[in-house]
Amino acid sequence: MKELMNSIVEKGTILGEGILKVDSFLNHQVDPELMYQIGESFAQKFNDRHVTKVVTIEASGIAPALTTAQALGVPMIYARKTKSITMNSELLTTEVYSFTKQVTSTISISKHFLNEEDNVLLIDDFLANGQAAKGLIELVEQAGANVVGVGILIEKSYQQGRALLNDMGVEVVSLARIASMVEGEVEFLEADL
Ligand code: 5GP
Repeated sequence: MKELMNSIVEKGTILGEGILKVDSFLNHQVDPELMYQIGESFAQKFNDRHVTKVVTIEASGIAPALTTAQALGVPMIYARKTKSITMNSELLTTEVYSFTKQVTSTISISKHFLNEEDNVLLIDDFLANGQAAKGLIELVEQAGANVVGVGILIEKSYQQGRALLNDMGVEVVSLARIASMVEGEVEFLEADL
């Protein structure tokens, strides 16, 4: 997606260890117009797949997941990273290792919001090693619901996430695919949309 790739080139900063900082339009300050366009793109792509819920993980997935859900006319659910011990029997939970924070956290979604009738589109900001998306897939499967696909804004294609999800039989649709980030330059592969 041209608009997203332009924002990455113009506003992104490459940090050490292959991390892209996009705080000015996605991870801290958020560009609403870009989020709207992203939502429209994902909705167009998954329009005929009978999506009933859009699911993401807090916090940075929420903005693009919301615009996607709005464009599809379905609810958006975000998995929470804070565990509520008192609500354990009411929660779908799993463990996720965070690539950027380098800690394992428990993520959860209330059982009330997903069931075996649901067709779920997963949305997240980045795909690196695929652990966040894998955790979301596990929550959807615990509910007996079906994963329609995973929509990613920025895929770092030099990491293993896409292969991991494809091996699980899940389609990945990425709006920007980064082949490499060398000497301050981002090189893109052809994106899925
Ligand atoms: P994964 O679980 O696929 O290994 O990593 C994806 C998660 O890690 C995303 O939800 C995102 O929050 C974070 N992440 C991974 N790589 C980057 C990166 O290069 N920049 C930023 N800002 N976040 C990243």
